[in-house]
Amino acid sequence: MTANLVNPTHIDAIIIGAGACGLMCAVQAGFLGKQTLVLEKNDRPGAKILVSGGGRCNYTNLNTSAQQFISGNPHFCKSAFAQWTVEDTIGFFETYGIEGQEKTLGQLFPTTNKAKDIVDVFVNLCHDLDQPIWLNTNVKAIERDVNGFVVTYEQHGKITQVAAPKVVIATGGLPVHKLGATDFGLRIARQFGLQVVKPTPALVPLTITGKDLPWYGQLSGNSIFCRVWNDDISFEENILFTHWGLSGPAILQISSYWQAGQEFYLDMLPHQDIVELISQERNINPKKTLLNVLAGLYTRKFAEALANYLPVTKNLASLSKADLEDINQLIHQFKVKPAGDKGYDKAEVMRGGVSTDELSSKTLEAKKEPGLFFGGESVDVTGWLGGYNFQWAWACGFVIAQNI
Ligand SMILES: Cc1cc2nc3c(=O)[nH]c(=O)nc-3n(C[C@H](O)[C@H](O)[C@H](O)COP(=O)(O)OP(=O)(O)OC[C@H]3O[C@@H](n4cnc5c(N)ncnc54)[C@H](O)[C@@H]3O)c2cc1C
Repeated sequence: MTANLVNPTHIDAIIIGAGACGLMCAVQAGFLGKQTLVLEKNDRPGAKILVSGGGRCNYTNLNTSAQQFISGNPHFCKSAFAQWTVEDTIGFFETYGIEGQEKTLGQLFPTTNKAKDIVDVFVNLCHDLDQPIWLNTNVKAIERDVNGFVVTYEQHGKITQVAAPKVVIATGGLPVHKLGATDFGLRIARQFGLQVVKPTPALVPLTITGKDLPWYGQLSGNSIFCRVWNDDISFEENILFTHWGLSGPAILQISSYWQAGQEFYLDMLPHQDIVELISQERNINPKKTLLNVLAGLYTRKFAEALANYLPVTKNLASLSKADLEDINQLIHQFKVKPAGDKGYDKAEVMRGGVSTDELSSKTLEAKKEPGLFFGGESVDVTGWLGGYNFQWAWACGFVIAQNI
């Protein structure tokens, strides 16, 4: 994999990071007859792609639009998505033998269920197109010089430099240190005087502490379908109870819209009215206990745990108006106040990053630093769970390749 350029002075651009954005950028530049050099600190390319989607790689989402992205400028991502569409992603991978299958909510995975197949496409294309990927190459610094940029890197303990007129920062975000995550992109942005929107973990499980924790902990392993909502947004997917708090897709989604100190709500029966359901049941079987009604809707364990809040041993006929109000409030508007999140090592993405104000949306070049490009997760554009973040990274790689 590690290759030396025959003529290192003939590089159009140095791409830092062999992740989703950097690999797509190298391949697309290769299609255009440009010469890139990819520098990657890990001993293999695409470490995050390999673990993504539980090793199956949810590589795009059929429903992609600007709506599924959080950014200081919600319109910023539109230009990249117009230049590289979901159909482009699908067509690109199909050309190299990867058919997609939709699992749920527009999420596309390779039919082989192997993330490695996705990485192999890039590795093979980089090889065929003569776009070297230098592995075990940790970039330490970037300086401007008269011809562009000088990049200083450490390889096998040796510090060396390489120069190019353009540099692409495709070093991703802060999540999951062991997969190669660094703050390099943010540091370089600040070094060149670019604003950075404060990064925070996103798509991340949330923790519960204090007197509420034993209640959540006893339900560890139980999953229920919910509508999870706050004043800004709502998601309908499963939530998962754990011994430290809450996880599952709906919780990861709302975590991107949650800040410390805030609360959100669970509607644990989003498509039915619990009071209506109880009154129907009461007409048929007034002696039935509330516990048995709830056990028909959830796991028995979950129904029993609701005894903490509701008079579950009462039979339906004896439920008072106040009881029904409590039941309605608890089932449809269960308040959750997380203590915190599980941090970058359990997050799928970083929220924040290089401010979109600093970049051209059409080229992803820094407005103040011609020749310096930022793409993928390093930019303040954060997608929902479900393949959106890869679609953003592929689109950035394509757009930057047109402009280096
Ligand atoms: C567990 C997990 C599962 C995920 N699953 C999905 C999914 O199924 N679908 C989806 O859309 N998104 C998923 N994501 C998010 C997705 O992986 C990222 O948003 C995407 O990889 C970002 O692409 P990128 O190219 O910007 O950065 P990355 O893919 O993170 O690549 C950045 C690369 O830069 C390298 N690097 C960093 N600093 C340096 C340096 N100084 N010198 C040299 N190299 C450096 C890193 O080693 C890394 O290889 C998942 C994330 C995680 C953590």
